[in-house]
Amino acid sequence: MAAPSVGVLSLRLFVLAGFVTLYPRTLAATLPNIVVLFADDLGYGDLEIYGHPTSSSPNINELALGGLRFTQFYSTSPVCSPSRASLLTGRYQTRSGIWPSVFVPDCTGGLPSNETTIAELLKKQGYTTSIVGKWHLGVGTNNEHLPLNHGFDTYFGVPYSHDMCPCRTCFYPNDTCYNDCDPQYSNCPLFQNSTLVEQPVDLLTLDERYSQHATSWIADKATQDAPFFLYFAFQHTHHPQYASKQFRNSTLRGMFGDSLAALDWTVGQVMKQLRDSGIIDNTFVFFTSDNGPSLRNENRGGNAGLLKCGKGTTYEGGMRVPGIAHWPGHIKPGRTTELASIMDLYPTIANLVGATMPNVTIDGIDMAPILFSDTPKSRRESFFYYFTSPDPTVGVYAVRYKQYKAHFYTQGEGNSDAKNHDPDCRPSAKLTRHDPPLLYDLHVDPSEQFALNTTEYQDIVKKTTQLYNEFNANMEWGASQPANHDTSAEPCCNKGCTPFPECCHCGKDDRWNKYSSKVNRLK
Ligand code: MG
Repeated sequence: MAAPSVGVLSLRLFVLAGFVTLYPRTLAATLPNIVVLFADDLGYGDLEIYGHPTSSSPNINELALGGLRFTQFYSTSPVCSPSRASLLTGRYQTRSGIWPSVFVPDCTGGLPSNETTIAELLKKQGYTTSIVGKWHLGVGTNNEHLPLNHGFDTYFGVPYSHDMCPCRTCFYPNDTCYNDCDPQYSNCPLFQNSTLVEQPVDLLTLDERYSQHATSWIADKATQDAPFFLYFAFQHTHHPQYASKQFRNSTLRGMFGDSLAALDWTVGQVMKQLRDSGIIDNTFVFFTSDNGPSLRNENRGGNAGLLKCGKGTTYEGGMRVPGIAHWPGHIKPGRTTELASIMDLYPTIANLVGATMPNVTIDGIDMAPILFSDTPKSRRESFFYYFTSPDPTVGVYAVRYKQYKAHFYTQGEGNSDAKNHDPDCRPSAKLTRHDPPLLYDLHVDPSEQFALNTTEYQDIVKKTTQLYNEFNANMEWGASQPANHDTSAEPCCNKGCTPFPECCHCGKDDRWNKYSSKVNRLK
């Protein structure tokens, strides 16, 4: 085992919102390794440690019990691509043009190259970098948007959601997939760096291969004289849920539970490798999710716990997600109710390693006062909620200020289920303007059930309206990146073949013959 090289700092002073925190010498003795574990569509109520009565996630439990568990942690979007953009750039996704909604396989755009990702920041500090899993920030006609063009040294993964391709086999031995996959696109691609190596990807062995790739990379980097950054973006627990034989029918919670068990196992493999390599005490690990649960999958879907609605909406269930920070000896285990967001990881990590942030608007706020203080206190007082498909003429839908949340617009969305017991969540709940805003106190009413009488909270209405107006007025919308489509951008290992896109298959022996007849749209 070799610890990462000694950084340029032997002792650091962090100036934080009017006070100075003197960090322990051990914190600055070496630059920490950084591991971000990013689940997909994992709801606030899905994990055992967040209260689900039948989920089984022992490895995430262990991570949480050894770390700091956030109860008011937010994604910046209720869907996949935008939240990934803000995680990697520290900025609201609208600035980088990741709107409206997500990248699909024939999108020609991607995360703009002039955005500076966490990986690029860390490389300047001497880090080696890798991403395993779901990228979902564009592929491009010539793979120009893939991770190696955004600061990552290596990539191994499916570059978007695995329902954005024909569904094939998700569970052993011959089960078919559920959910509305997209048979119009080419088969799900698996990339190694910028090369398409398998199409369709074999989901049933993917967990093992993702895990092997991540752990062998960690083991290798642990022997080298440089710190590393691993961004592990899981396909789980997005639909269609899948699991290898090891996890099929392994839980009380059906297909979703089996998918979660696979995710949990992979988390455990990463943590085991950090321990086995002797670097766990010098590795900052953060686990979270890109958005709330997909409720349209009903009893195969995720769960937002006590929060209202789910994926696709700006209610709490759409954007409040699990968040766990882990760093033995540096982060005191426990629970925090402080306000934070995935885009806060960017300045947190940048400051931790002494990186200079790019000269652009950074919306994230350093979480150090939450993570490294005996009296955790967030510097974040406000947060803004963008809908699935943001519109510059509408702007943000809601504003959080301290414990208060003001909805200026509300709208239901399909991912929160057309048959949801709560009509506000359904897509039939059309865009509605609220003036004065719908106001809730999330500290006493996290389920957004009891709107406050705005005449009794005029000061809060005034403050949230001021924040709302200022934020919308100052937002600089980047040109929409998912807007343009061309089939030439669809990943295909036999570019130019016919009949397209069925002809796009390569990789594992006989997989195409074995599964070619199993494209389906089972409900
Ligand atoms: Mg997602």
